[in-house]
Amino acid sequence: MIPIETFYLICMVWAFIGLGSFVLLQFVRAPYGRHIRKGWGPEISNHVGWVLMELPSFLIIFYFYYFYEQSTYASMLSLLWLMHYFNRTFIYPFRIRTKKKKMPLTIVFSAIGFNFMNAGLNGYFLAFLETYQAANFETWNFYLGAVLFGLGFVINQVSDHLLIHLRKPGETGYKIPQGFLFRYISCPNYLGEIVQWIGFALMAWNFPALTFLIWTAANLLPRVSGHHKWYQQHFDHYPKNRKALIPRIW
Ligand code: NDP
Repeated sequence: MIPIETFYLICMVWAFIGLGSFVLLQFVRAPYGRHIRKGWGPEISNHVGWVLMELPSFLIIFYFYYFYEQSTYASMLSLLWLMHYFNRTFIYPFRIRTKKKKMPLTIVFSAIGFNFMNAGLNGYFLAFLETYQAANFETWNFYLGAVLFGLGFVINQVSDHLLIHLRKPGETGYKIPQGFLFRYISCPNYLGEIVQWIGFALMAWNFPALTFLIWTAANLLPRVSGHHKWYQQHFDHYPKNRKALIPRIW
């Protein structure tokens, strides 16, 4: 078994790489979805890309959950993770309306690496190092974390649903999203995702969950600003008072 000090060191190095990636993503838009462009090597179907990217995150946590005995608390965390990634891997890619759209393999492989490390650290901790975890069902952080996880999940799901249904089947273009939190911000789906993993980190109250939150924010915050600017550049009548992620603030 990896000594806890070594494990924490790995988490810390990985979190710093996440911060490095945040800085890098200020200058380079991850080339998928509306930001896809040529010059990033071979491409595969967008749908297949999503399944391949997210599969490691589901399988790794499933492996640690199924093959190793976990406390009730650790099992609860594993199940929440599995629920999220079951949707992201096996449902979400079949709902999106991205006909004939491609995604560079560079993105697929970097996301596989991201998911491999984050799920690996979280799964390993929950299976073998959970005795170092201070959290339990009677702590404030469990209750607050559970509320935020649920709230974030709902915001993410509703927003993704609205975005996906902006296109009629077969359509490929972009429209201005309306309703729900889109009235105030451009990227409520990313807001939901970030709130959800803040909730998870609070519930888990451990280093790998915090590391995953850092990586999620490092990926999504630059993308929020990219999407927001993209809307403003592509739609003359984009609502002037709509912010990027936080109503009235940013
Ligand atoms: P986007 O908001 O870019 O797109 C979501 C879907 O809606 C795509 O199919 C997109 O099509 C479509 N869409 C978005 N805006 C419009 C519009 N204005 N008009 C028409 N269609 C639109 O999200 P991502 O693809 O980046 O992410 C998908 C999910 O994955 C999100 O829930 C996100 O939170 C999560 N995610 C999590 C990450 C993490 O680090 N934990 C990292 C990245 C994503 P198209 O692809 O053609 O643009």
